[in-house]
Amino acid sequence: MPDRFVYQGACARVVFGAGSLDALAAELGRLGCSRALVLSTRGQQAEAEALASELGLLCAGVFADATMHTPLAVTQRALAYAHELHADCTVAFGGGSTIGLGKALAIRTGMKQIAIPTTYAGSEVTPILGETVEGNKTTQRDPAIQPQVVIYDVDLTLSLPVSLSATSGLNAMAHAVEALYARDANPIISLMAEEGIAALSRSLPKIVSEPGDRDARSDALYGAWLAGTCLGSVGMALHHKICHVLGGIFDLPHAEMHAVILAHVVAFNCTAAPQAMTRIARALHASDPALGIDALARRLGAPRSLAELGMPEAGIDIAAEHVTHTPYWNPRPVEREAVRSLIADAFHGRVPRHEQNGTSHA
Ligand code: NAD
Repeated sequence: MPDRFVYQGACARVVFGAGSLDALAAELGRLGCSRALVLSTRGQQAEAEALASELGLLCAGVFADATMHTPLAVTQRALAYAHELHADCTVAFGGGSTIGLGKALAIRTGMKQIAIPTTYAGSEVTPILGETVEGNKTTQRDPAIQPQVVIYDVDLTLSLPVSLSATSGLNAMAHAVEALYARDANPIISLMAEEGIAALSRSLPKIVSEPGDRDARSDALYGAWLAGTCLGSVGMALHHKICHVLGGIFDLPHAEMHAVILAHVVAFNCTAAPQAMTRIARALHASDPALGIDALARRLGAPRSLAELGMPEAGIDIAAEHVTHTPYWNPRPVEREAVRSLIADAFHGRVPRHEQNGTSHA
């Protein structure tokens, strides 16, 4: 029987399935909106323009300048454009960067949002917004940040490059992994987390060998939705703290950094969270959860080390200091030397070590 817990359901409407983009006009109607501002990155501008043409009079314009980590200057330009067009809602077409811009506009204006995710990052189902002002990243959590409608159309993920599919999928898996040992874990979210890890671990290798496999793509998107819901519902721990620090100080690429760190943190937390580890291993069909994630990351051809992502070696101590100075809650105490050795292992691309017994699987 579960212990005492609190479960807070989030209310978002999810429209899932191949071709579900064709529900967009009807979903705008359900929200009572008729002048959508379509958002995208420059890289996805052509698709955003095509979507705008499909919408016809329901689209007020396109803003195709969404940028990683939601810089305030970009948000201000998008805000001015939204006012000029008298837009009444946003349609964010893209990954976490584009969806972040939609959230930044919504929290300032109350505009409704429809998110159409094309990566596995999961931001579309969270009430969390990270923004950067002059290089400093701040994060806020507010129910008003969460998009009202999410359209998951697998066809839009077929173009996601294999390398980004792999790392974005491991980024999603990290949300589900940390949900299983969260301080405020609950049985519903843990069900989603285990199912999310299973869906991602069975689909990502198929996507890497056959990027056009729509069934595998659909399974990965389903896993990403579940994992994103975990991220939005319970607190994250050491893995997300390390990635937050590394992203903030060294500007390392988001999904790649998650892919490198995850197996090391699972090894670090292994004995402190035995029930979570049993579920992670079961979802992966692996005897050891950390080595299971490490093997999956290798199979996917994901980056192995922080060094190859451009972090300087001197950054190991700097990062360890920041992570331990203001730690997130974690099932195992976050001690400086142990965290330093974890980050050093990740820097050099070593096999994850189960620190509790000092053994290396290398
Ligand atoms: P991204 O949105 O930056 O996209 C990466 C690149 O891939 C972009 O150039 C984009 O145009 C391109 N791309 C996206 N989908 C594509 C597709 N289907 N085909 C071809 N190209 C495609 O990357 P991301 O990893 O999705 O998001 C990272 C950002 O999201 C970070 O800023 C991170 O902090 C944020 N994030 C926030 C949350 C949250 O809950 N607030 C959760 C996860 C990530």
